[in-house]
Amino acid sequence: MYEAVIGLEIHAQLKTDTKLFCDSRNDPDERHPNMNVCPVCMGHPGTLPVTNKKAVEAVVKVGLALGCSIAQFSKFDRKNYFYPDLPKGYQISQYDMPLCEKGVVRVSAKDIGITRVHLEEDTGRLVHDAGGASLVDFNRAGVPLMELVTEPDIRTAEEAAEFAKKIQMIFQYCEASDANMEKGQMRCEVNISMRKAGEKFGTKVEIKNLNSFGVVKDAIAYEIKRQTAILEQGEKVVQETRGWDEHNKATVSQRTKESAHDYRYFPEPDLPMMRIGQCDGLTDEECVNVDLIKAGLPELPDQKKERFVKQFDVPEKDADILISDKHTAAFFENVVSELFSIASSQDAVTIRQAANYLNTDLRKLLNETGTPISEMLVTAENFAELIIL
Ligand code: ADP
Ligand code: MG
Repeated sequence: MYEAVIGLEIHAQLKTDTKLFCDSRNDPDERHPNMNVCPVCMGHPGTLPVTNKKAVEAVVKVGLALGCSIAQFSKFDRKNYFYPDLPKGYQISQYDMPLCEKGVVRVSAKDIGITRVHLEEDTGRLVHDAGGASLVDFNRAGVPLMELVTEPDIRTAEEAAEFAKKIQMIFQYCEASDANMEKGQMRCEVNISMRKAGEKFGTKVEIKNLNSFGVVKDAIAYEIKRQTAILEQGEKVVQETRGWDEHNKATVSQRTKESAHDYRYFPEPDLPMMRIGQCDGLTDEECVNVDLIKAGLPELPDQKKERFVKQFDVPEKDADILISDKHTAAFFENVVSELFSIASSQDAVTIRQAANYLNTDLRKLLNETGTPISEMLVTAENFAELIIL
C-alpha cells in the first residue's frame, strides 16, 4: 500500500494600499487594465525600488502568528526568468533569507511544519482573447505577495484542504490578506509523491494554480491514483510541473521541473536591508519593530475557539463554524454581550441557542441571499432579542 507525501506552497496577495516597491495602488478590484502602473513596476531602466514597510510588517505578523522565527534583516534576491507578464525580466523575491522560518500549524491534532514564509512581488496577468491574441495587464505586477511553504508533513487530501483553510483564516485574522481564492488573492500549489509507509520519499510532482479548496482535494485525489498506478506497474514517476484541467477533472503535464540554478538568483543590489527587531536608535525607514507587531497580534482562530468553548460553553463543532470567519466570530461575540446586557438571559443555554441559530438558520439565509455577514442588516441587538423571544 502506498501513502501520499504532500507539501503545500501557498501564495497570498497582501492587503496594502500600494505595491511592494513603488507607490502604484494595490487595488485587486480595479477593472480597467494597466491603470495602476508606473515606471518602477513597469521595469523602466533607471528606476529604483523602495520597499513598502507595511508589506514586510504584514509578513512578520503572519510569521509570528505561525510561531516562526523572524529574520533579523530583510534581504531580497532577484529571480531571473523571461515571461511577458514580468516586465523587468526578474522577480524580486527572497531566496536564502526568508522573513520567517520554522513555524507550525495544528490541524486535526497533528502538527504541520511551516518551512518558510517570504515576501516577493506578483507578476502581471496575461489575458488570452478569443482571436488568439494575448493581452497583458500590469495592474498586478509588483503587488506584494507572501509565499508560505510547508514541510512534507501532509498525508491526505482532506488534511491538505483543512490546512489551507486554516492558513486562510490566519491570513485573514492577521489582516495581512483577504485571501479570497475566487478572486485569486490566495493560490495553492501542491507537491505530492507516493511511498510505501516507512520508506524514503519518492519523486514529487508539483501541481500549480489551484484556486479552491475543492480543487486542491480533487487534484490530490487524482494524483494519488495516477502515481499509484505508475508505481504499481513498476515504472517511475517523472518529476514535473502539472496543471489542473477543471473540465476533465484531471492533472495535465505542463513542463519538466526547473531548479533553483536556472533562475540565477543573486542579491538585489538596489534595496538596502531593513533591520527587523528592536529599533532603538534607528529611523522608521531603517527598522521594522517586532515588539510592536507582536503587541498587535490578534486572538488567533485556535485561541478563539478554545475561549468560546470555555467561556460560553459552546460545543466544539459550533465553535469551529463560528471562528471559521472573523466577522462571524465578532458578530457572535456582540450577540453574547447583548444577551449579557439583558440580565435574565446570560445563561449558557441561551448562548448555545444563539450559536446554534446563527450557524444554521441565519447562515442559511445569508447563503441563500449571497449576503456577507459583515454587510447583514440584522444587528447583534436584533438577533439577541430574537433569541430571547
Ligand atoms: P523544490 O526545490 O522542488 O522547490 P523544495 O524542497 O523547495 O522543492 O520543496 C517544495 C515543496 O515540496 C515543499 O512544500 C516540500 O514540503 C514539498 N516536498 C519536498 N519533497 C517532497 C516529496 N518527496 N514529496 C512531496 N512533497 C515534497
Ligand atoms: Mg520551491
